[in-house]
Amino acid sequence: MDLASAHGRLSPVTSDFIARPHRLLIDGKWVEPSSGKRFPVLDPATGQQIASVAEGNATDIDLAVAAARRAFEAGPWSRLKPTERGKLVWKLGDVLEAHSEELAELESLDNGKPITDARAVDLPFGCELLRYMGGWSTKICGQQIPISAPGEWHAYSIREPVGVVGQIIPWNFPLLMAVWKIAPALAAGCTIVLKPAEQTPLSALRLGELILEAGFPPGVVNIVTGDHVPGAALAAHPDVDKVAFTGSTEVGKLIVQAAAGNLKKVSLELGGKSPAIVFPDADLSVAIPGAANGIFFNMGQCCTAGSRLFVHEKVFDRMMTGLADEATKLKIGPGLDPETRIGPLVSEEQLNRVTGFLASGREQGAEVVTGGKRHGNAGYFVEPTILTRTTPEMKVVREEIFGPVVCAIRYGDDDLDRIAKQGNATEYGLAASIWTRDIGVAHKLARKLRAGSVWINVHNFNDVALPFGGYKQSGWGREMGYEAIELYTETKAVAALL
Ligand code: NAD
Repeated sequence: MDLASAHGRLSPVTSDFIARPHRLLIDGKWVEPSSGKRFPVLDPATGQQIASVAEGNATDIDLAVAAARRAFEAGPWSRLKPTERGKLVWKLGDVLEAHSEELAELESLDNGKPITDARAVDLPFGCELLRYMGGWSTKICGQQIPISAPGEWHAYSIREPVGVVGQIIPWNFPLLMAVWKIAPALAAGCTIVLKPAEQTPLSALRLGELILEAGFPPGVVNIVTGDHVPGAALAAHPDVDKVAFTGSTEVGKLIVQAAAGNLKKVSLELGGKSPAIVFPDADLSVAIPGAANGIFFNMGQCCTAGSRLFVHEKVFDRMMTGLADEATKLKIGPGLDPETRIGPLVSEEQLNRVTGFLASGREQGAEVVTGGKRHGNAGYFVEPTILTRTTPEMKVVREEIFGPVVCAIRYGDDDLDRIAKQGNATEYGLAASIWTRDIGVAHKLARKLRAGSVWINVHNFNDVALPFGGYKQSGWGREMGYEAIELYTETKAVAALL
């Protein structure tokens, strides 16, 4: 198979990486999986195989966890001074930046996302996140605590790394999710077993090479590729102290059950069905491209996608015309083409899932404003789609589609409680956006929305310093900001009677 001719754009460095055997990273070495098996990795723009990758299983997870345990208990990692740990995490950010172009290319090839987005979002965010979290290493403090019991006391708290952590990540932002997970864990002093998604393992494997190049000691980061089998083994492992998962709510619930065996700590970033709420006074020149980006960015494969668009009846028609214009302007094509704005979905399974939702929407009476079907017949492309005349009972309104499909819902109400009730009418609670010029209304509504992130006149906004996570069935815990450090530390209270 000639990948370069398939896209005409692969750099030699990416071609070389793809041609290498893709093994497991355990204890600082690249090793064959104990099963001897490999699984294919497909290019979502063509459906053709681009690589084969080691298929890890429970035995490999045992080996990786043992290596992480050694690095945590006895290895140099637990003895490193905070400055040294922080410098290394920061350095990984620099190494990532130096390899940004190559990683953007690999990410676009493996996941299908537009290379323009990988360059503008995934890579810069990943580099900044490593540097931000590296900065926390020297600032993880406990407190001196006043005691009221009789006697003289010296009491204080210490924050200690939680230990060996298992991290299971999805395919929508493969490299960014890997960095998102490892950066705070490393900064806190934990050691890691990372399980990338089976659809998109390549950038995490390249990240593994860069981790070794940056000088992380053996066993600090271990990477086991494979499907749900190594994932489930990691979540259930008795010697793992914490599991962090990003993916579907359904699997999130399985992770909780698996973690119950040794009551390991659990943090979860799960699905969403986020509302974007447009008021009649909104600046439509901002709201139209903003709502389009809110749903079509990354082909809607974002847990925070603005997939329920509530628009006041006074501006509904203008909003629909503008949004349809935006949708039809987006160039559909392979991610590696710099002109592409809509790449393929990640897999045939996702293609079938999203087109299945489109069929169900039509059957249940939704009207297609634009898009509505698969694009072409090679690769996994779906047209950016706007549905109207939806009702709250429809599957397309209730369930996470995870594709470029928005349900536009007309409302005529001016009562903030009723508007919030509509926005909150979902089992999820990850994000919401409010579009208005009335900042008082925006802040009042922000308080009424049951979501971990509320954005005003913007959607899909994340920052390394802003806590991110879900209410309700969108997850447990907050990543980003100092709250991410808290996820990877335990608090110890020390009390001395003097
Ligand atoms: P998934 O939840 O099945 O997979 C995510 C990760 O979990 C992968 O690494 C997978 O190998 C692993 N995994 C699967 N089963 C496991 C188990 N029993 N124990 C441990 N690990 C396990 O996600 P998917 O099937 O790839 O996508 C299905 C749906 O999930 C999507 O359509 C979307 O709705 C949602 N999703 C959400 C996010 C998000 O960021 N919140 C990301 C990807 C997918």
